Amino acid sequence: MESDCAGCCGLFPKRKKESKPVLHIDKHYSKEHLLGFTVEEVEKAAQTASKKGVKATLPIHQYRPPYCNTPIPSTDVSRSSASQLGSSYIGAQYETSNEIRPGQRPAKVTHRVVRSEDAQGNKMINEYVRVRKIGIGSYGKVVLHRSLEDGMFYALKIFHKSRLCKLRVSPSETAMMDVLREVMIMKQLDHPNIVKLIEVIDDPESDNYYMVLEYVEGGWIFEGCGPSGGIGEANARVYCRDVVAGLMYLHKNNIIHGDIKPENLLVSADGHIKICDFGVSRKFEDGNDELRRSPGTPVYTAPECCLGLTYHGKAADVWALGCTLYCMVLGSYPFKGDNLQSTYDKIVNDSLYIPDHMEPDLADLLTGLLCKDACKRLTLEAVANHLWVVRGYGPVQ
Ligand code: ADP
Ligand code: MG
Repeated sequence: MESDCAGCCGLFPKRKKESKPVLHIDKHYSKEHLLGFTVEEVEKAAQTASKKGVKATLPIHQYRPPYCNTPIPSTDVSRSSASQLGSSYIGAQYETSNEIRPGQRPAKVTHRVVRSEDAQGNKMINEYVRVRKIGIGSYGKVVLHRSLEDGMFYALKIFHKSRLCKLRVSPSETAMMDVLREVMIMKQLDHPNIVKLIEVIDDPESDNYYMVLEYVEGGWIFEGCGPSGGIGEANARVYCRDVVAGLMYLHKNNIIHGDIKPENLLVSADGHIKICDFGVSRKFEDGNDELRRSPGTPVYTAPECCLGLTYHGKAADVWALGCTLYCMVLGSYPFKGDNLQSTYDKIVNDSLYIPDHMEPDLADLLTGLLCKDACKRLTLEAVANHLWVVRGYGPVQ
């Protein structure tokens, strides 16, 4: 997930370091408000808030960071809140919900990390030789490595456990919990349009946590293109079909991606999309995809999420797909203001601008994807069979 600034970015959002604002917790807090503040800062803000009579959903004193050996007092832990607390509990919860499908190669889990150098002086992590940095995420960096065992390239997403355990993303969760959830979800996935998790390296003696991912060599979909203009209808159709296939697989398996956008769509050597970044994904149960907090990227946020009410994760993923397709064909965002609030206002209130020259089927698809009423928005199945999507290929399977 990336906390792109909604107000100042084109298709190449810049991560700006701004002077740190003062944190205020009110009942409309979200991950964006809390991201970047330390435990102490959030606790202080929560105390101020409670003096003013504002209650956080999970009392702040119940918080225990993962990777913390302090026992959780049995008296203040309800079963539902316990899953949001200590690391052993989280580990256990995530391990047990890990479903490996028949034929799926399970991700390896390694509990020992050895740092060394190869003959050329390149840094190594276990059998992986460092090649170069390829990405920077909100919680850690992504570095290209080559395995000495099979000679293949892998993308290593590298985190610092102590830093993430101190970083609050909500009053009840730390960034480390997001990473553990990301791993838990990725362990269950096996689809050609989704980046595969190959290995997790988590040595209790080391502060580093590594996700070893299948390397997708083409970069994200706008890599190398300028911000103006799109990537052309033909490319956009192939990419859109791939994203729809990946999303249909996720939704069928009760997973909401939560942050569909060009930066999280990587192009493989054969020109197909692999969806990456499950940092804000959620697994839902009993077919109920109702969610409360929308932690995705502002310009791709659905209107119902801007209102701070509960929303349906599948429909929100479809909206984000609409914004992504709009960017792909027009090279601009459908709704973008000068700051977060004006972006949200536009998403909720402004009508969609479709240029007169746009191909009618494409215009119809974008209008259906970016329908403000989530109940009337196109479903993924309808997108898979839409005239513009099937042209030259047939329905997405
Ligand atoms: P974050 O959650 O911090 O946004 P991402 O998983 O999106 O992290 O990774 C950040 C960036 O790193 C991506 O936008 C992409 O450019 C690059 N990246 C991530 N995973 C891979 C991969 N498997 N292959 C190639 N590049 C990758
Ligand atoms: Mg990302």
